[in-house]
Amino acid sequence: MSAHRISEFAVHLVSIPARETHSHGSGDVSRINSVLLQLTTDTGLTGWGEASPWPVFTGTAEASAAALHIHIRPHVIGADPVQVEPAMNRIECILRGHPEAKCAVETALLDLAGQIAGLSIAEMVGGRQRETVPLSFSVANRDFARDRHLIESLWEDGVRLYKLKAGFDQHHFDLMRLESLRKLYGDEIDLRVDYNQGLPAYDAIRRIRDLEQFRPTFVEQPVKREEWAALAEITRAVDTPIMADESVFNPEEAFRAATDRIADIFSLKINKAGGIRRCLEVAAIAKSAGIEVYGGCMFETSIAHAAGAHLMAALPAIDLGCEFYMSSYYAEIDLADFAFPAKGGFVHVPGAPGLGIRPDPDKLAFHRSDLLT
Ligand SMILES: [Mg+2]
Repeated sequence: MSAHRISEFAVHLVSIPARETHSHGSGDVSRINSVLLQLTTDTGLTGWGEASPWPVFTGTAEASAAALHIHIRPHVIGADPVQVEPAMNRIECILRGHPEAKCAVETALLDLAGQIAGLSIAEMVGGRQRETVPLSFSVANRDFARDRHLIESLWEDGVRLYKLKAGFDQHHFDLMRLESLRKLYGDEIDLRVDYNQGLPAYDAIRRIRDLEQFRPTFVEQPVKREEWAALAEITRAVDTPIMADESVFNPEEAFRAATDRIADIFSLKINKAGGIRRCLEVAAIAKSAGIEVYGGCMFETSIAHAAGAHLMAALPAIDLGCEFYMSSYYAEIDLADFAFPAKGGFVHVPGAPGLGIRPDPDKLAFHRSDLLT
């Protein structure tokens, strides 16, 4: 037991406009609607965490805020922040689902525990295997000329990994963008494709085979979350590795997905799994089945990005990189007290004790939504 007890539990609903609308097979997104959790101890420490849901994917920010504010708060006030697993077990027993809210609590507890121990979160969950992770940017604009322009500047920044969001327009639009980028940048560009469930299952194999000539590194979630048999069939049929994102949230789903071999790669997201340690469980299942993992994210601020970066640092292998680009290249502002360290084409894992990043109070106040006040 430590000498610290959690005495305050503050929930901040935030809404940050994006620089450009991003389109996906499951719809358009123009804002980051997120929930920041601030835990304070009776010894004066502050820990931060983030729930960042996407309504067509996981849930809503309003539901996460209510889950935290009404249901989880009584089980965290008075708790010892170092006792992370006991606290998360208590919450698991009283609240089904809501992985984003649970992710926020776990991150804030680990932030506090890390500050108390003098260790970064990556070190609290296993150790730092690496200090940097290659950064992937998602190309998701209906106006491809704008995306090409943006890629030019990101290329100058050192970004070499690009994931084309696909399936929100005609098939030939997706082929044209892939062909154009492969011609412009040759083999130096690492191209990936994410359909966000946007392909009709009956025609998915033919359309993916069409784009294999442009050598995508992987194709992500071509069909709907529930279409497991179709996803397994696609994975068997095409040469390009298939990634499951929407189909695999947590360790239980990862186990079934690995058993049925519905994909070659799982996208890890702390907001899908319910936190960093649940993602490590997904990664362990994947490793035992010969399935690769990848660092995905939701529409989130640099608080969740930093938590995701600690997960990436602690994983045994992360060859395909991560996509924590939102606060640097998508949001109009970065909420953090210093810019999230995505530079030179890499995410740099924060090194300070705990999470290593926190919101700037003025920026948080300005972008706070008053739904809960
Ligand atoms: Mg995805």
